[in-house]
Amino acid sequence: MQHLVKGLNEQQLAAATHINGPLMIVAGAGSGKTKVLTTRIAYLMANGIDAFNILALTFTNKAAHEMKERIGKMLGSNEARNLYVGTFHSVFARILRAEAHQLGYPNSFTIYDSDDARSVIKTVVNELNLDDKHYKPNIVNSRISALKNALIGPADYLNNRAAQEEDTRANRPAIGQIYQSYAARCFKNGAMDFDDLLLKMHELLKNFPPVLHKYQHKFKYIMIDEYQDTNPVQYEITKLLAAANENICVVGDDAQSIYSFRGATIENILQFQKDYEDVKVVKLEQNYRSTKSILHVANHVIKNNTGQIAKDLWTDNAGGEKIKLVRTMTDNEEGKFVADTIKEQKLRNHYTNKDFAILYRTNSQSRAFEESLRRMGIAYKIFGGLSFYQRKEVKDFIAYLRVIANTRDEEALKRIINYPVRGIGKTTIERAVIVANEQNITLWEVFSAAGAYGFKASTLESITNFVTMIRYFQTMLTDKNASDVAVQVGKHTGLVKELFADKSVEGLARYENVQELMNSIKEWTESPDSEDGEVNDKSLGAYLQQITLLTDADNDKEDSDVVKMMTIHGAKGLEFPVVFVGGVEESIFPSGMSINTREELEEERRLFYVAVTRAKTKLWLSFANSRYRFGNLVQNEPSRFLDEMPEDYIDRSYAGGGARNQGGFSNMGTAFERTQRGFGGEAAQAERRYGPPPAKKTQAPAAGTNKPSYMPPPKQAPVVSHTPSGDFVPSDT
Ligand code: ATP
Ligand code: MG
Repeated sequence: MQHLVKGLNEQQLAAATHINGPLMIVAGAGSGKTKVLTTRIAYLMANGIDAFNILALTFTNKAAHEMKERIGKMLGSNEARNLYVGTFHSVFARILRAEAHQLGYPNSFTIYDSDDARSVIKTVVNELNLDDKHYKPNIVNSRISALKNALIGPADYLNNRAAQEEDTRANRPAIGQIYQSYAARCFKNGAMDFDDLLLKMHELLKNFPPVLHKYQHKFKYIMIDEYQDTNPVQYEITKLLAAANENICVVGDDAQSIYSFRGATIENILQFQKDYEDVKVVKLEQNYRSTKSILHVANHVIKNNTGQIAKDLWTDNAGGEKIKLVRTMTDNEEGKFVADTIKEQKLRNHYTNKDFAILYRTNSQSRAFEESLRRMGIAYKIFGGLSFYQRKEVKDFIAYLRVIANTRDEEALKRIINYPVRGIGKTTIERAVIVANEQNITLWEVFSAAGAYGFKASTLESITNFVTMIRYFQTMLTDKNASDVAVQVGKHTGLVKELFADKSVEGLARYENVQELMNSIKEWTESPDSEDGEVNDKSLGAYLQQITLLTDADNDKEDSDVVKMMTIHGAKGLEFPVVFVGGVEESIFPSGMSINTREELEEERRLFYVAVTRAKTKLWLSFANSRYRFGNLVQNEPSRFLDEMPEDYIDRSYAGGGARNQGGFSNMGTAFERTQRGFGGEAAQAERRYGPPPAKKTQAPAAGTNKPSYMPPPKQAPVVSHTPSGDFVPSDT
């Protein structure tokens, strides 16, 4: 048994060999929390506790899989396969498959993903004669999700004044009504959405004592990793399950709590100590993951948060290199810098692709990295979230461009003929496809001669309008470049407007992605040289050709040697030898949307702490002077978090410190704009801190000029820089 705990330090050993009674491990990043939890499971099993009686809840399915595998290896047996290990959702779905009939659901209930959920919401909103423009499925879905995670079921809502008042204040008084109908409809369909997996599990345990007893008896030992990110419904479920035996072990780090927007609350850590009086609390203080430099920087920055549980994390690891700050002119250069550096590091230090991770705050930042890695022929994989060009909204937009360039492209045509919705229904499309097949003509030809095929008047009108619009775009093909066409498509199809109107977090991300696509088309048309040497062919056809080559690139790299790209949220619990964190700029990181309150800002800082502590050996933090966002060339200042780093541990030589100031801040707008944005002080300060920006090849257009016209018109003069208020979306549209 000793071999299981070999190499653990004193605190780790105490935690891993604690068998009965509640246990809480609160410790900083890389201190071996997950390792201890894994070891403890093996230790319990080695002490005769049946794997069937152990439940372990992890944050991702991958983590669950790895944990089982590791325990299997430690014990050298197949017993680990009998463990209940998984995410809250997967474990509860499994239990509900056995128990759902108690709640009146079929045990073979369907799980609705968020697309399904939104579709049901749309249906019930319409059935209730409410306006689905006001009660947007996305917004309603997020609200219902929040209610469920706060343990407010549809029936509870009727008695919950606070929740009702919140919705009334938000001018959505019918949320309760929609919530009832939505829940009833899901029930009728025998379906649960993701949040129901938690809510129904709670209902089951609370209202059916025999079921509760059964699972209390089964799960005699319960373990939860990443406890800081559990929400109230998860807290209550595990409390119910653990009530009989109180063998519950939770592991977490309050400094890494980054999911409060999904209802997670650090309160759970504090509450845990109140609920379980004999709790044994273990602190782990030695970090085994990172170099001294990396750890010191992380510790130093997180100290700026108030109200963290005091921790003194240290490491015996090597001092390591300083953390490198990198300043580039643009986001594309940032991507190029990272790709170049990966190539160089591979040559110099014998790293392979899988030693590198590129982390970013939001998915839309992945594009510039993706393109540079592709160009350099470096294999990569984007985790969580689709590759940029696979995203639905990006595909939809590109489908328009494809049809304009080649009307025979039936797949693209089918994709957009009724998107945004213009009253050309499924039956119409099916009929048109049949006609096309019968007459051996293209679908487009059927639509462009629609009058001949007896469609009903309103449908005919919609089809004719669509055809006219596409033909209008086509008139530009001869003398306009790809970007000009794309701008017109954004304007006239209603696609951008529709995305812009959706103010939910997901809606905003979709809008951002389409803007990002348009930015990339603009940049492509403005770039002096093209990849294939065909200088100056900036037509739509040329653009599509190169984009098709990008999308056709090999994407099948299972578990192979690839650079990993993911959001910081997705990197929780993971570690990599070399880490790049991109876009360390004000309004990106911290996010412009998350700096309205101290709580939000502190969550961003925790996210920064998570990002930094993923690195084992080397860490690069990069920021760009300017980047296209929301259709504008914007200048963000370096992130405030960079100011919070201890000077002795950072290397600014990549931040332009040594370069001559050829470009200066001349592209930062007029003196008036600078004063408006407070650049007089901050930019100058930034320049002192980071040195002048590196010399640039071509002068970027002055901020505020050459503004693409696909942005909805702002009310006042455009504020191009992202202000700390994050007010980057004009409010009058
Ligand atoms: P996070 O907060 O990021 O989830 P963590 O506290 O869960 O981190 P682990 O991932 O368990 O930390 O451990 C970090 C690294 O340190 C791992 O590579 C792990 O194998 C190693 N490690 C932990 N404890 C020891 C030890 N006693 N001896 C050697 N290596 C250790
Ligand atoms: Mg961990």
